[in-house]
Parts: sequence; C-alpha cells; structure tokens
Amino acid sequence: MSENNCIFCKIIAGEIPATFVHQDERCVAFDDINPQAPVHVLVIPREHLESLDEASQRDEALLGHMLRVAARIANERGLSESGYRTVINTGAGAGQSVFHLHAHVIGGRALAWPPG
Ligand code: AMP
Repeated sequence: MSENNCIFCKIIAGEIPATFVHQDERCVAFDDINPQAPVHVLVIPREHLESLDEASQRDEALLGHMLRVAARIANERGLSESGYRTVINTGAGAGQSVFHLHAHVIGGRALAWPPG
C-alpha cells in the first residue's frame, strides 16, 4: 500500500481519529481499534516504513526508540509486574494487515505461547 493510502499515515495526519497515548517527533502511539487484550497499543514511526523488513541501518535508532516508548507505555499502564508482549508482525503470512511498521503492546491478561 502506498504512503498516500496508508491508514496509519492518515492517523498521524489527523485525517482518521485515534486515541493517542504518546506523541513525539519520531513516533506516535494509540489504542488499537480492535483490542486483543485489556491493553493493546500500537507504536508507529511518523515516517512511513512498510514493515520491519524495509528498515535499514539508518533506522536503528528509530527502532530502538519505538521499543523504549513501548516499554514506557506498558509501565504507565501498570504492566511491568504482570508482563506484556511487544509484537511486530512482518508480512501478510505473519499476520501483518497494515503495511506501515508498528509494534503492538499487549497486556493485562495471561498471554499464551507460542502465538497462533
Ligand atoms: P497487524 O495485523 O499486525 O498489521 O496490526 C494492525 C492493527 O491495526 C490491528 O490490530 C488493527 O486492529 C489495527 N487497526 C487497524 N485500523 C486501525 C485504526 N483506524 N485505529 C487503530 N487501530 C487500527
């Protein structure tokens, strides 16, 4: 999907509503519209990258920042003790349905392993 048709780019641009829980110059985070657990937040870069597979060496700091933001959100939601999962689906075969890189932060219930 091109950047122009990207639903997450539209959320960043304010063209589609979302419940933001974090915003900074490099990434934003908002509640997933179809939560799979009591806490289900998506952390996405402002820059359109289709997937983790598209990330290059120049994106290393951005990826690290996204993970730190994910951990901060989990902590703020009280998940540090109970635990949480940070998931990046890459490619349709792995369940990626929105082709703008995003990290799911999921918690607030027991999480089975392995994922389906
Ligand atoms: P994935 O399947 O890993 O690509 O995850 C995409 C996620 O985006 C799913 O969990 C969807 O529920 C979520 N999603 C799709 N559209 C929206 C939206 N408009 N606002 C918030 N979350 C969304």
